[in-house]
Amino acid sequence: MPSLVLKNFRIIDENADMTGSVTVEGSLIRELIPAEADPARLEEAERTAALVIDGKNFSGADGGLPLLMPAFVDLHAHFRDPGFFENANGTGRAAEMPAAETLESACLAAAAGGYGTVVCMANTRPPVDNLEQAAALKGRADALGLIDLYPALSLTKNMEGRELSDITKLRAPGDHPFFPRLLSEDGRDVDSEALFLAALEEARRLGLPVSCHCDAGGSEAAEAKAAGRPRELWSRIEENNATRRAIALGIKAGAHVHIAHVSTMEAVEMIRQAKSRKREAGSFVLTCEAAPHHIACTGADARRLGDDSFGRVNPPLRTEADRRALAAAVLDGTIDAVATDHAPHTGGDKAAGAPGFTGLETAFAACFTHLVPAEKNSAGLKRLSSLMSAAPARIMGLGTGPGGRGRIAAGLRADLCIAGASSWIVEPGLFRSRGKTSPFAGQKLRGEIIITINRGQIVYDVRRRRTEHV
Ligand SMILES: [Zn+2]
Repeated sequence: MPSLVLKNFRIIDENADMTGSVTVEGSLIRELIPAEADPARLEEAERTAALVIDGKNFSGADGGLPLLMPAFVDLHAHFRDPGFFENANGTGRAAEMPAAETLESACLAAAAGGYGTVVCMANTRPPVDNLEQAAALKGRADALGLIDLYPALSLTKNMEGRELSDITKLRAPGDHPFFPRLLSEDGRDVDSEALFLAALEEARRLGLPVSCHCDAGGSEAAEAKAAGRPRELWSRIEENNATRRAIALGIKAGAHVHIAHVSTMEAVEMIRQAKSRKREAGSFVLTCEAAPHHIACTGADARRLGDDSFGRVNPPLRTEADRRALAAAVLDGTIDAVATDHAPHTGGDKAAGAPGFTGLETAFAACFTHLVPAEKNSAGLKRLSSLMSAAPARIMGLGTGPGGRGRIAAGLRADLCIAGASSWIVEPGLFRSRGKTSPFAGQKLRGEIIITINRGQIVYDVRRRRTEHV
């Protein structure tokens, strides 16, 4: 018996663009009913369902039906929990002041952004370098029931780049109550090649992807930095050299390397070349992600916001030529996934130059606005769904099987979102996230998350939210 019926929607996933209904039983998708099916099928489902959501109550694209999509999967977010406190008047003491983010505010932001699954990075205080800590964080997120959180495990102990973390103790997924789906040293590459290679070999043994931040630029970047060259220049050398190194070591180890937030046209081209050659390289797998702000913004936005304050992000917003190269690579499949790199900071820390933007609540609209200019563009919508849901789920090994997600098909998790095409002005003050710095602040974006459903339960409803702010 279905617990939930969603009728009169334009159903989009990476393979489908159809009009019809979806029924949910418990936490799973039960069936898809195309609009042209025998009406008795839908009537029967409606009669027995606990709740019916009718798409005709919302406006969709071009005045048509709203979109029903698989909930999004984010491979890269910073939840800042545990351990981030606002600096007490610059004393550096942890104080009873609001944190840049909490697990609760981050999970609320993710649900409001249409996300069902999020990987949070290990660079907390202390870093997540062991299974117990990761499992505890996952347990707290499960208790909130808003999203399915997968803490990434760091590659080295305390993220110090000296010895491997608990990844050496991991066995098969079934042997542990919690098993990570991604390993990453996040914002610092492992400098030692031998240690990085050893980490990649552990990852290959475990069948897990390693997300590489790509900022180990070697002596060339260090010299440019020391010579006082602009950040735009040395950070480009860093990203390009580090991408080359990650690919080379990934091939050597036969591991799955996932390049995080690619931003330069040279790195995009390197990835394109390496992907076309990857079959010769044994078990080596290469995937990559781009962040919405790199797809939609350039250095001009950073200058407007303040290069060294509210416009600062790693890697930096780059040139229009880079942005175009990214947008093209997103469409031709070189870039597999969109990841937010949601990196909230307090206003004080941003003013002082902390890099990163708040991203979970604008990712869909930014990508919809910039990658799907015409709503009738069926191929563009399917590609967007692949980038935001199916591909990242596959990268995490969660595309099929028990707990499978990222597409709309019978038996997969009922992690769904309803999106409209209306335009809205980004007001960071209304973000669920405690981080209020967005390069899209004040801009008009198209595409709005109306409802988010996690394991068959409504976890976000924009209409409820609107009444909260009246
Ligand atoms: Zn990051």
